[in-house]
Amino acid sequence: VIAVNEVAELRRILDEVRDAGGRVALVPTMGYLHAGHLSLCDAARRHADFVVLSVFVNPLQFGGGEDLEQYPRDLGRDAKAAMDHGVNLLFAPSTATMYPQGDTVTRVTAPGISGRLCGRYRPGHFDGVLTVVAKLFNLVSPAVAVFGQKDLQQATLIRSMVRDLDFRLDVHVAPTVREPDGVAMSSRNVYLQPDQRVAASSLYRSLQAAQAAFTAGERAPAALVAAAQAILEGESGVSIQYVELVDPETLEPPMQARRGDALAIAVHVGETRLIDNHLLE
Ligand code: AMP
Repeated sequence: VIAVNEVAELRRILDEVRDAGGRVALVPTMGYLHAGHLSLCDAARRHADFVVLSVFVNPLQFGGGEDLEQYPRDLGRDAKAAMDHGVNLLFAPSTATMYPQGDTVTRVTAPGISGRLCGRYRPGHFDGVLTVVAKLFNLVSPAVAVFGQKDLQQATLIRSMVRDLDFRLDVHVAPTVREPDGVAMSSRNVYLQPDQRVAASSLYRSLQAAQAAFTAGERAPAALVAAAQAILEGESGVSIQYVELVDPETLEPPMQARRGDALAIAVHVGETRLIDNHLLE
C-alpha cells in the first residue's frame, strides 16, 4: 500500500491512475480499523480498480467535551490491515494539511436533516462531517465512495450532498458488520469495560425486538419504538438518548411503518455513546 500524507502527491498519483483508465474508489474513515471498515474496502474493491482509504480524525466534527484527544489511533496497524484488504493508497493527512488555516471559513451544512436524530445532541457535528467529506471528494475525485449503514444519518446526508451539489460520483452504502453477539463494530467499542460491553448487546436485541413486532404485523411507529425501548430499559447501565423510527431518505417519522424504514437508536453506556440502526424487512 502506498502511504501518502500530502495533497500534491495524492493528486499526482491519482491523476496517473485515471490517465491510465483506472476507476478510483474512496473509503473515508477515522482509522483504528475494524472489520466494518474493512468490509467497506472490500466493497470498494468490487466497484473500482484503485482503492483509496483515508484515515483522518477530523477535529471539525467533534464537539467540546467529546473524545477528540482520546480517539484511538494506530496508523501502523491500519496500514497493514488496509494492505490485506486490497487498498492501494492510504491517505493519512495531518490536521495542518487538511486545515492549513486552522479552520475553514466555509462549511457544508444541511440544516434540516442535520437537526434530526444525533444532530439534536451533537450540534455542528454533521457540518463537520459534510465539510471534510466534501474536501476528501475534491482531493480524491473518486468515481465511487463507500460508507457504512452503521452511520445512518451520515449516509443520508452524504447522499443528499452529492445530489444537491452535483458531486460526480456514486455513493455506495454497505451493511453494518457486527460482533458475534450483535454489537455493531465501532472504534469506540475499546472504551467499553467488560460489563458495559455485555450491556451494549442490548442495542442489537432491541432492534431485533422491533423487527419481530414488524414481522408479526405491527405497523404503528410508536409500538415498534416501544418494543425496542422495552429491551433497552431492561438493561442496567444503558441510558437512552433516542429511539426513533424514520424514513431513511428524509429522517422524518412515517405515519405507518413500511419495509425499509429505519429504527435508529442512540444510548450511553457509561460515558460511551453508542448508535445503531436497522432497516425493517
Ligand atoms: P468511522 O471511522 O467511525 O468514521 O467510520 C468510517 C466509515 O466506516 C463510515 O462510513 C462508517 O459508517 C463505517 N462503519 C463504521 N462502523 C461500521 C460497521 N460496524 N459496519 C460497517 N461500516 C461501518
